[in-house]
Amino acid sequence: MTAHREPLDSVLETIGETPLVRVHAAPDGVPVYAKLESFNPGASVKDRIGAYMLERMLEEETISPGGTVIEPTAGNTGIGFAVAAGQLDVNAVFVVPERFSVEKQQLMRALGAEVVNTPTEDGMGGAIERAHELAEELDDAVVPQQFANPLNAEAHYATTAPEVFDALDGEVGAIVAGMGTGGTLMGMADYARERGSDARIVGVQPEGSTYGDLFGEDAEEGEYKTEGIGTHDVSTNELVDPEKLDDLKTVSDRAVHAEMARLAREEGQLVASSAAANSLAAIEVAEEIRDGAVDVPHETVVTVFCDSSERYLSKGVYRDFEEWTG
Ligand code: PMP
Repeated sequence: MTAHREPLDSVLETIGETPLVRVHAAPDGVPVYAKLESFNPGASVKDRIGAYMLERMLEEETISPGGTVIEPTAGNTGIGFAVAAGQLDVNAVFVVPERFSVEKQQLMRALGAEVVNTPTEDGMGGAIERAHELAEELDDAVVPQQFANPLNAEAHYATTAPEVFDALDGEVGAIVAGMGTGGTLMGMADYARERGSDARIVGVQPEGSTYGDLFGEDAEEGEYKTEGIGTHDVSTNELVDPEKLDDLKTVSDRAVHAEMARLAREEGQLVASSAAANSLAAIEVAEEIRDGAVDVPHETVVTVFCDSSERYLSKGVYRDFEEWTG
């Protein structure tokens, strides 16, 4: 890949065109590739939506320069919006429940954003409510609402998916991605279908997440440590359309913890828990393809490594399982 070799004017131009790298634990004959999203300037997949959504909202005049974007977010989305807002003359305010990672809040502030904390016991719902209250108080303020805004999926339809299909000359057999908002997977699914690809579309969630409810499974809710993917209330995730999913894989925290360590040791990949979950699920899909258990147009699986483990070192990602989850 030859992206970004020329001198660039703005850090926003470094978003996207991330490397696509082989996962070597895949079975023989069915390559698995992962898109390394920590190569983005804010070091996660969410830089894509920060820049794309803000640029579209400025074009559509949903917001004007000097206006304020207010998003309830626990992390990467805030950093992604903060990187873009700083360069696009937009103010950024993030409403973050107190319990979330201090590192991420420091990065948002460093990028010039304001962070408003809400009580942990009010959950994400409390943060969403506070974001809307703040938007009412300010002139020219918008709440992009990544969980409900079609521009989130569109960012991946417009960037992530075409990058993958171009890199593999269209020979994509399956797309496997963890669903937080579901924006990454839904946008990539829309792109695949539009270009006539029958690539298998597979969602990933941690054990304890209830995306299974979308398929009438009455999924058992539980706590999980894997970060950035999964849900406890499918009704808040307006982007996820079960009709677009061919399968949903569920991975345990224990397996994710071991896979993070394996990816670092064996593959030189310093990636976080959602990437490890995606890696496990993508390898499982590759095994199904190898065994002829599923129909795919090509014998290649693609997934996403959403961010880097460095952002979670203080949370003990590489310590013992009990220390990480304790
Ligand atoms: N991994 C990490 C680390 C994330 O921050 C997110 C976003 N919540 C995801 C995966 C999932 O991405 P999406 O919201 O597009 O489903």
